[in-house]
Amino acid sequence: MKENQMTRQEMITDFQHFLDAHKEEVEANICQPPFDFLDDDWEEVQERSMENVVDIEKNLEYEVSELICLKCLHRWIDIYPVITPLKELECKCGAVGYAIKTGQTMPE
Ligand SMILES: [Zn+2]
Repeated sequence: MKENQMTRQEMITDFQHFLDAHKEEVEANICQPPFDFLDDDWEEVQERSMENVVDIEKNLEYEVSELICLKCLHRWIDIYPVITPLKELECKCGAVGYAIKTGQTMPE
């Protein structure tokens, strides 16, 4: 490692900024990060970025609720980060955006 090399965290932060700014191009795989310091292979960097996302999520609070799908009326108990909008949760029937909390109290 070179002495003036960026730390792993700095790399990830820069990478996240890059992704935010070029999200569509990166997703379409027509744009690669223009970082000379990246000797690593592109996929490894992406994986590392995902690890970072998981690390952040680990610090979030989770909520456990009984949900019901308004499309198929399936009920299930789900655990998800409290910041997750209910409209993003998916029922096993494949419907996204139909889940609401039943209000069922949960045992401690
Ligand atoms: Zn459903």
